[in-house]
Amino acid sequence: MAESQPTEMSGNLPAEKPHRILVLGAGFGGLYTAVYLDRFLKSRPDVWITVIDRRNYFLFTPMLHSTATGSLEPRYIAHSVRKIFRRTRVHAHIGEVQSIDLKNRIVRTEHRALPFDDLVIALGSETNFYGLESRLENIFTLKSLKDASAINNHLIRMFEKAYWEESPESRRAALTFVVVGGGPTGVELAGEIHEYAHRELLRDFGRRISKEEIRVILVEATGRILPSLPEKLSLEALERLRKIGIEVILEGRLEEYRKGIMQLSGRASVRAETLIWAAGVRTNPLTAALALEKDGQNRIRVKGTLESVSMEHVWVVGDNASCLNPWEGRPYPPTAQTAVRQARTVAQNIAARLLKRPEKIFAHNHVGGFVSIGDNYALLSAKQFTLSGILGWFLWNLVYIHKLPIVRYRLFSTFGLFLKVFFERATTEIDLCPEYEDAPRVASVDRGGPSGG
Ligand SMILES: Cc1cc2nc3c(=O)[nH]c(=O)nc-3n(C[C@H](O)[C@H](O)[C@H](O)COP(=O)(O)OP(=O)(O)OC[C@H]3O[C@@H](n4cnc5c(N)ncnc54)[C@H](O)[C@@H]3O)c2cc1C
Repeated sequence: MAESQPTEMSGNLPAEKPHRILVLGAGFGGLYTAVYLDRFLKSRPDVWITVIDRRNYFLFTPMLHSTATGSLEPRYIAHSVRKIFRRTRVHAHIGEVQSIDLKNRIVRTEHRALPFDDLVIALGSETNFYGLESRLENIFTLKSLKDASAINNHLIRMFEKAYWEESPESRRAALTFVVVGGGPTGVELAGEIHEYAHRELLRDFGRRISKEEIRVILVEATGRILPSLPEKLSLEALERLRKIGIEVILEGRLEEYRKGIMQLSGRASVRAETLIWAAGVRTNPLTAALALEKDGQNRIRVKGTLESVSMEHVWVVGDNASCLNPWEGRPYPPTAQTAVRQARTVAQNIAARLLKRPEKIFAHNHVGGFVSIGDNYALLSAKQFTLSGILGWFLWNLVYIHKLPIVRYRLFSTFGLFLKVFFERATTEIDLCPEYEDAPRVASVDRGGPSGG
C-alpha cells in the first residue's frame, strides 16, 4: 500500500510543505467540518483538506424513515460528496478507514495510506443492541439507505403475504409491525409505518385485508417516550400515538425475538414478522479502539475547543465526541444538530491555530427538538415555544428540507412533500440493493435461522 497523498493534488497546490488535514467521515460532523475548513482557510492554499468516507454520499438521516415508508425517494436524502465539494479544494477519498495510527500520524484505507498533520474524527455511531445480539434473529435496523429500502420492501411483502394467507394467526403475524425504542427515531418510524400501512398499503391491498388486522406496536424500555423533549410534549406524543391506534408498551424490556416471536420480560409473547430495532447507538468501533481518553460510552473526551484531551491536533466532532455542555455538566447528545455546530467550531479552531489566532470554546444551548408522528402531525419544542399538529409537521419538514445540502434536492423534496399531502405515496419495492432480494431482511444479528416468514 502506497503511503502518499494523492499526487494529483500537486497540480493546483504548492508542493512544498503542505499542511494536511484529514477528516474521517462525511456525515453531519465530517462533511460540515470540511465545508467550513474550506471557507475559513481561503488564505492558505498550502493546506490540503481530504475527507474520507466509505460511501460516496452524505446521508441525511433525519428523513430516513420517510424513505423507509415510500414518501421520499432514496436519492433525495443521499447527496454525492464529490458533487458537494466540486467547487471547493476539498478532496474526497471513498474508502473504508481500516486503521488510525496516531503515533505515526497515518490513516489507512483499503486503497492507500494518508498521512496527516491535523486529524478530525467524525465516524459516527453504530447500532447498540445492549448485549441482546445473540437473542435477536432477522431484525431490521434503520441506519442506512439499504436499511430503509429493506424495510420498505419488507412492509410491502408482508402485505403481499397476508393478502393470500388463509390462517388468521399467520395473517396477524404478517401484519404486526414492532418498533423497539421510544426515542425520536422509533417514534417517527412507528408513526410513519402506521400511516403507510393504513393510508397507502391498505388502499392497494384492501380487497382482502382489513384495517383491524394491522397492528403497529412501539416498545420502550423505560416509563417514558421521547425523553429529550419536555415532559408535556412527550406525554402529548404518547397520547397522539395511542389515539391514532399505535400500541405503546412502556417499561417493555425485550428479552428475545426468534422465529417471528417477540418476548418481552414478564409479558405474553407476540407473533410479529417485523421487528425494527431503534433503541440506541454506540460509538464507532474504530474510534472506541483508539488509545485516547474516553468516557463510559467510549466517546473521545475533548476539551472545550473539541481537541482530544490526550493528543494535540486530534479533533473530534459529532457522535464520537464527549464534550461537556457547560450549562448541564453532561456531554451533548448525539444529534445532527450538535454535530453540525461542532463542525463549525472545530474548523474555526484548526484555522485559528494555523493563522495564530485565539481558539473558541464550543458552547451551544440546545434550541429544542422536533419529532414527527405520521399522519401529517409533528411536535416542536424550542425554548419556551411549543407547537404541534399539521403546522408543526410543515415546519418540521421545511426545517429539515432546508438543511439538505444540495438545493435541487430541496426542491424535489418540497415538491414530494406536497405531493404526499394530496396524492398517494409510492408502494413500489426499491430495487436499490439486489443483495436484499433473496434475503429481504437486514443481515440479522444472529443468522441462526429463519423467522416465521
Ligand atoms: C434514522 C435516524 C434518524 C435520526 N434523526 C435525527 C434527527 O431527526 N435529528 C438529529 O439531530 N439527529 C438525528 N439522528 C442522529 C444523527 O444522524 C447523528 O447524531 C449524526 O449523524 C452524527 O453525526 P456524525 O458526523 O457524528 O456521524 P454520521 O453523520 O453518522 O457520519 C459518520 C460517517 O462516517 C462514515 N464512516 C463510518 N465508519 C467508517 C469507516 N470505517 N470508514 C469510512 N467511513 C466511515 C459513515 O459512512 C458516515 O458517513 C438520526 C439518526 C438516525 C440513524
